[in-house]
Amino acid sequence: MNKQNRRAFLQVSTVALASGLGPVAALRGGVTADDLVSNLSVAQVAPTVPANEGKQPLRLGLILGIGRDPHDAIAKVHDLGFPTCQAFLEEIDPVLAGRLREALNKYQIEVTSLVVGGPGREVWDFYGGPLTIGLVPRETREARIAHIKKASDFAKQCGIAAVQTHCGFIPENPNDPVYKETVTAMRDVAGYCKRNGQNFRYETGQETPIALVRAIQDVGLDNQGVNFDLANLILYGKANPVDAIELLGPYVQGIHAKDGLWPTNPKELGQEVPIGKGKVDFPRIIGRLKELNYRGAVTIEREISGPQQVEDVRAAKAYLEKLIG
Ligand code: MG
Repeated sequence: MNKQNRRAFLQVSTVALASGLGPVAALRGGVTADDLVSNLSVAQVAPTVPANEGKQPLRLGLILGIGRDPHDAIAKVHDLGFPTCQAFLEEIDPVLAGRLREALNKYQIEVTSLVVGGPGREVWDFYGGPLTIGLVPRETREARIAHIKKASDFAKQCGIAAVQTHCGFIPENPNDPVYKETVTAMRDVAGYCKRNGQNFRYETGQETPIALVRAIQDVGLDNQGVNFDLANLILYGKANPVDAIELLGPYVQGIHAKDGLWPTNPKELGQEVPIGKGKVDFPRIIGRLKELNYRGAVTIEREISGPQQVEDVRAAKAYLEKLIG
């Protein structure tokens, strides 16, 4: 996520789709997976995702805010021609669960994960981020654990198989007390999701890939996965996603197809740009996902609002469809 508040963006994105779409008529590398797994002494084999069984691998999706009108949001996903979405929900209101379920049935859309953040302020940069994002900051940790558990119950009501969040700037130093506290918090929420029959997914961005793999292994539960945001690793200057997939590959259960540029100023994140205009090597990433027999969705994320967002999403969809074949 760039400077914008993620929750605000995602809420706006629904509005943007609505305003940008107009009438409905306007819509319409060489290494095998076995090699990888055997080479990965650092990585355990990730859990299977029963929700992928019988479904097309690399099916496209869109991340968007559900707001107070699940029907409207899911109609947008359908009208843009996506079979899946990731649903961001700011307010966990059980009343919305019934409406969301109805909309999903009506449009036959699969929600591949429920995305949560907050409560409280989150600042998407190098200075405010470590103080405000995810389960790392002590001040908001208990409230966020409670929020994620509430989201897990909501996801269960809707039949959504995974809950997803940013855990924050997980300390690189495993001896740091904050690292240990964060791992304990991650185990708490991942364990809760496990008891609800769900996977818990970490969205990449604020931490290095090896720090995330280390934390996952220290949590030690078999229902953990990664939502691999391809651009975030670049925006935060943490890794090239083509390299990161060698570490994260066995855990990847979701993808954010997003593009971006490296930071040019160490005080600011890099810039998010339309897919194909940034530093993410999509042909290599898609090729690698195929080699790894990745079965999940590829979810487009574009962090602007307004009609241009819809145009960029459409262009990204066409670009990825060609690559995926
Ligand atoms: Mg993302």
